[in-house]
Amino acid sequence: MTRIRLEKDHLFDAYKSLFDFNPDASYAVDLEGKFILFNKSAEELSGYTLPEAVNTHFVEIITDDYKEAAVEKFSKVLNGNRETMQVKIRHKNQSIIQLYLTAVPIIIEGQIQGIIGFAKDMTESNKIQEELRHSQSQLEKIFHSIDVCLWSWDCVLNKAINVSPACFNISGYTAQEFIDDPALCKNFIHPDDKKYVIETQKKLLNGEVSQFEYRIINKKGHVRWVSNYTVPYFNESGALVRVDGVITDVDQRRKAEEQLQQYAYYDYLTGLPNRRLFDKKLTIALENAKQEKKKVMVLYLDLDRFKYINDSLGHAVGDQLLQIVGKRLKGCLYDEDVISRQGGDEFAVLIENIIDDCAFEDIPSKILQVIQQPIMLNKMKFTLSASIGISVYPDHGANVDSLIMKADQAMYLAKEKGKNTYQVYHIGMTSSISRKMILEQGLHNVLKDKELSLHYQPIMDTSNNKLVGFETLVRWENPMFGWVPPSEFIPVAEDAGLIVPIGKWIIETAIKHCKDFHSKGFELYVSVNVSAKQLEQGDFVDWLKQALDVAELSPAFLKIEVTEGTAMTNVEDNVRILQLLEDLGVDIFLDDFGTGYSSLSYLRKFPIKTLKIDQSFVRDIEEDKNQEEIIKAIIGLANSLGMDVVAEGVETLSQISFLEKNGCRTMQGYFFSKPAPYKEVLEVLTNSK
Ligand code: C2E
Ligand code: MG
Ligand code: MG
Repeated sequence: MTRIRLEKDHLFDAYKSLFDFNPDASYAVDLEGKFILFNKSAEELSGYTLPEAVNTHFVEIITDDYKEAAVEKFSKVLNGNRETMQVKIRHKNQSIIQLYLTAVPIIIEGQIQGIIGFAKDMTESNKIQEELRHSQSQLEKIFHSIDVCLWSWDCVLNKAINVSPACFNISGYTAQEFIDDPALCKNFIHPDDKKYVIETQKKLLNGEVSQFEYRIINKKGHVRWVSNYTVPYFNESGALVRVDGVITDVDQRRKAEEQLQQYAYYDYLTGLPNRRLFDKKLTIALENAKQEKKKVMVLYLDLDRFKYINDSLGHAVGDQLLQIVGKRLKGCLYDEDVISRQGGDEFAVLIENIIDDCAFEDIPSKILQVIQQPIMLNKMKFTLSASIGISVYPDHGANVDSLIMKADQAMYLAKEKGKNTYQVYHIGMTSSISRKMILEQGLHNVLKDKELSLHYQPIMDTSNNKLVGFETLVRWENPMFGWVPPSEFIPVAEDAGLIVPIGKWIIETAIKHCKDFHSKGFELYVSVNVSAKQLEQGDFVDWLKQALDVAELSPAFLKIEVTEGTAMTNVEDNVRILQLLEDLGVDIFLDDFGTGYSSLSYLRKFPIKTLKIDQSFVRDIEEDKNQEEIIKAIIGLANSLGMDVVAEGVETLSQISFLEKNGCRTMQGYFFSKPAPYKEVLEVLTNSK
């Protein structure tokens, strides 16, 4: 330090050290304002050395914008005051430095002789403050504009201290309303979700961050779903002092999820739980019943003759009646009972906590009674009835499938007993249910369970001993009865309205198999038996065309067998449909010919390619001369109508020679081969190459 004038004080050395070694820039100016002292820090801060600074007026290094204020402060200090101020100075290298100055007068022997000052460099700290201000304003902007609601709850004051404006969009209440009314945060929660919210909030006390969704009731009284993400803050002594959170409006997403849930688990027509939900609820009920050693009752209900209403009055009426039945079932049972629509006119009911066996009588009786109440619809009076089957856990089964199956079987028995009644399952009951009922029940799942298969029987041209095609014959292996002949189950499928899906599967599979034969080099046709119900489907021909297109099989390789009986009922419609098939290129075989007493005039109308002589005539050729005459007549008739003939049921050589002698050379029967599974047929064909 360079000493200029101030000396000779006895404290001088001490002050000198304080001045020299002060980490803050320290300086002194005389009464005019010219520098007289400058410590090391001042030299570093300003870039000027003491000799450079001496005699320089302090105003010269102050930036223009602070000059006036600095002069003013200067004169105040000269008047004996201690002053502080922020200024900016220009460093020797021309950079601007922000300083915080403290200046005091130098009083020697009662006279103010100058000013001593200390300067703190504020450049860095001002910059930090500026940055802080900036980020704070950014946060504030976010706080005000973001569409999620940010909130803080003071656990000491027990009130909201900060709520962002987005709370208004979510709840209809303003931030101020939340701050003014601490109870609002709880009151706007949906009453059904309050318990859940309180339970979840308890986790905060354990320091857990939690995210949970619940419903609120907004100011307009509408229910909305929100998600709340909450973070707890504790003080040093471990007390919860504040909770911060973010509330997001998740209403749209939750409603979309609910909608999906509705589609997946509820029946669209009645709004009742569907089969899937029923199975789930039954599974849970069985678990509970097992633990609590209670009984569970399953009722399977089928409306009597409902198909008749549907067919005769149309689906719209049928649908309305099903809705009414659904409502009535709900109305006569408790809220906790599960009532589901299983499909079609079938409903299932699940009753838990059966304590008294009276329930097995009381509940079905009550249901039958409400269903019987007359219904007025479109000025018509309907009286419905139902058949109910009942199974009970644990008496009849321990799992969902067996209980439903047994209730279903009991329901069939109820139907057999004359309908409008109920039946509790009992062991040995199956024997009293007719085979037909069980078959019908089994047919519902026949495609799903892959129990059907196709067999093929060769059709031969005996003039050259060549194979021309196959008749497709369906086979069903039933889990209870084993192989069931098609002559038995096809009529059941027709009655139960199941022949259409089953028939579609048969045709599609036969087309696929035929295509396989072709790809192996065997250009053979397949003939498929078709029921009247299939033909009656308005879109049968279009559907068939598409099935052929998809498989890329030429229609020439598919033949449709229609029995004489089928063709001759509903002649006008059948002529039209069969003509469409013929136009498509699919030939018609008239099956079992000779059994249906066709009128000749009708026969002419049909676009039939081939008559199949029923096996009953062929069988009896040797014994019955009459049959021979009939066969001759059929062959003659076919020739005169320009139709081909195929003889069915050919088992012996003599039958073959008789048929050949009379001009029939296309034959089918056990003599050549029994119908065989597709794989076997393919193998034989491949080996014969
Ligand atoms: P169908 O169309 O007249 O079929 C011929 C029936 O005679 C077949 O019986 C066949 O196995 C049997 N058969 C063939 N050759 C001989 C023989 O030399 N001797 C004897 N005794 N019988 C022979 P299957 O397979 O039991 O079929 C019975 C009927 O079931 C069929 O009569 C047909 O009306 C119906 N059916 C079979 N498959 C289908 C199908 O896929 N759809 C429809 N709608 N009906 C089918
Ligand atoms: Mg046939
Ligand atoms: Mg036949």
